[in-house]
Amino acid sequence: MRDLGDKIIIASHNVGKIREIAALMAPYGITVQSAKELGLEEPDETEDSFAGNARIKAHASAKASGLPAMSDDSGITVDALDGAPGVYTADWAETPNGRDFPMAMKKVWDLLDERGAPEPRTAQFNCTLCVAWPDGRDMLFEGSVTGRLVWPMRGNEGFGFDPIFLPDGETETFGEMDPARKHAMSHRADAFAKLKAGLLDR
Ligand code: IMP
Repeated sequence: MRDLGDKIIIASHNVGKIREIAALMAPYGITVQSAKELGLEEPDETEDSFAGNARIKAHASAKASGLPAMSDDSGITVDALDGAPGVYTADWAETPNGRDFPMAMKKVWDLLDERGAPEPRTAQFNCTLCVAWPDGRDMLFEGSVTGRLVWPMRGNEGFGFDPIFLPDGETETFGEMDPARKHAMSHRADAFAKLKAGLLDR
């Protein structure tokens, strides 16, 4: 079993993800620093799977920092769109002036309308966490949460696609929900529970 030590790099420049991962790591007394804070370059995500891209990001930060690094590759998989946007979720929000998630959410909803997709428009958030060590080893942990998409957008909490994702059995979207409640049931929480069992609690 590998040791995490007392400091880990969060291999991300996404402020929403960094905040959520830092909150999840806090109880373990592990100091976190992000690739963004360290000014590390963001590698190109050239793989077509969450695991592949999570590996690229974690290894790049571990190599550049000489410390264990943890990455998150995540996205939303919409059933009636054959799994799109999936690993390309962030790309769907790209504009010449940065990422525009309201635009990307509208694009998804309009495509579902064009296809005449019936409701409920089921979807999953997926999250793959990768912990990589500077010596080239790594571990992967995969999580998901199922739900359906709603329109119009609801709530100002969270980030990304949260305002249109209603988890199964809930009345509030991730965008409306208290962040602590989202953190207890999200795809990231699911993957993190596996990381906890497989690495932190051993
Ligand atoms: P990447 O993993 O950096 O390639 O980007 C994943 C994208 O998926 C993010 O930019 C968000 O749009 C979306 N995403 C991932 N996790 C969440 C979440 O917890 N809430 C809302 N959107 C998310």
